[in-house]
Amino acid sequence: MKKKVLVILAAMAVMGISELTAQTKIIAHRGAFKNTKLPENSIASLKAAKDLNLWGSEYDVHLTKDNVLVVNHDNDFYGIDIATSTYQDLLAKTHPNGEKIPTLEEFIKAGLKLKGLKLILELKTNKLGLERTLEATEKAVALVKELKAEKVTEYIAFSYDACKKIHELDPKAKVSYLNGDIAPDQIKKDGLTGIDYHLSVFTKHPTWLQEAKALKLTTNAWTVNAESDMKSLLDQKIDYITTNEPELLKTLLK
Ligand code: MG
Repeated sequence: MKKKVLVILAAMAVMGISELTAQTKIIAHRGAFKNTKLPENSIASLKAAKDLNLWGSEYDVHLTKDNVLVVNHDNDFYGIDIATSTYQDLLAKTHPNGEKIPTLEEFIKAGLKLKGLKLILELKTNKLGLERTLEATEKAVALVKELKAEKVTEYIAFSYDACKKIHELDPKAKVSYLNGDIAPDQIKKDGLTGIDYHLSVFTKHPTWLQEAKALKLTTNAWTVNAESDMKSLLDQKIDYITTNEPELLKTLLK
């Protein structure tokens, strides 16, 4: 009897510890680019996120006219429109640090070498329409599988259709929706695994964060750069914070 009680107490202690250590994780937004003065979405900024020992690094993926997936935030790379240009066209420009626009393949291969860093793949909505967005989605999921990067990759997108497509193509994939207009219960019903909403959404819908947690969805807020916002979300025990200021968030978590 005594032994049983001890076993139960030990199990409770372990559970308590894991609860305490379930700390909010930091995701660098477009790599650790701001304080390092590196180009956002460059391989250098991805490596800088690893140097800071962050949990993950977010990056943006577009599809060129000739079906090459590339990593960049805006619809254009220094003035060259991505959706209507070929990959070769994009090579006319480089980042200020000399890097060319990374292909998704190059980016993931670089990320796989940074052991332990999660790669948060944002599938961008293609300006030419849903069909192109879904083509980009299929190609991205296929490439992640081909490179055996499933375990380090989590997906995010503003397009709900893209999110559902990723889930359909890889039911085990972690997929969070970005646009902030769908309640947690619907996200759960559609098989997605998390919400990744603008920080204002959690103020507008003050119950959503805890509702999502109760449904075992992951919770993430973007783009959280102010100390007061970080503290408020840390108090609510949000799972992830996506930020341009990972150094600041690191000091708050210490
Ligand atoms: Mg993004």
